[in-house]
Amino acid sequence: MKDDCLFCKIIKGEIPSEKVYEDEFVLAFRDINPAAPIHILVIPKKHIDSLAGLENEDKEYVWKIHEAMNKIAEQENFKEDGFRVIVNCGKDAGQEVMHLHYHLLAGQKMGDKIV
Ligand code: 5GP
Ligand code: ZN
Repeated sequence: MKDDCLFCKIIKGEIPSEKVYEDEFVLAFRDINPAAPIHILVIPKKHIDSLAGLENEDKEYVWKIHEAMNKIAEQENFKEDGFRVIVNCGKDAGQEVMHLHYHLLAGQKMGDKIV
């Protein structure tokens, strides 16, 4: 964990969050400024700066994040309707919090795709 990292503080419980899912590897909580009716952030319980900072030893976290997103989609009842996953990486993508996080968006028909 990194002392000055917002999401590490959320993992440690130093900053409150609305938790949706948690296991040994992953924490998921609602985004404070939702961009869709359902907007959940899914993060590894290890400080990794960004997708660009992933190492081979992190692969279990990556799998567990994907597994968690499927569990959350079932738990929150949007697996059938679908969802969008976004990872902002670095400055051109507008990454604001430098702790790897997956945006899980659901609950509406999404806007235009850019890819
Ligand atoms: P980024 O722009 O880095 O991809 O996404 C950071 C996200 O974190 C934003 O969607 C922002 O709303 C969210 N966020 C920032 N601070 C907090 C906070 O203190 N609590 C929660 N739940 N979300 C936050
Ligand atoms: Zn962190």
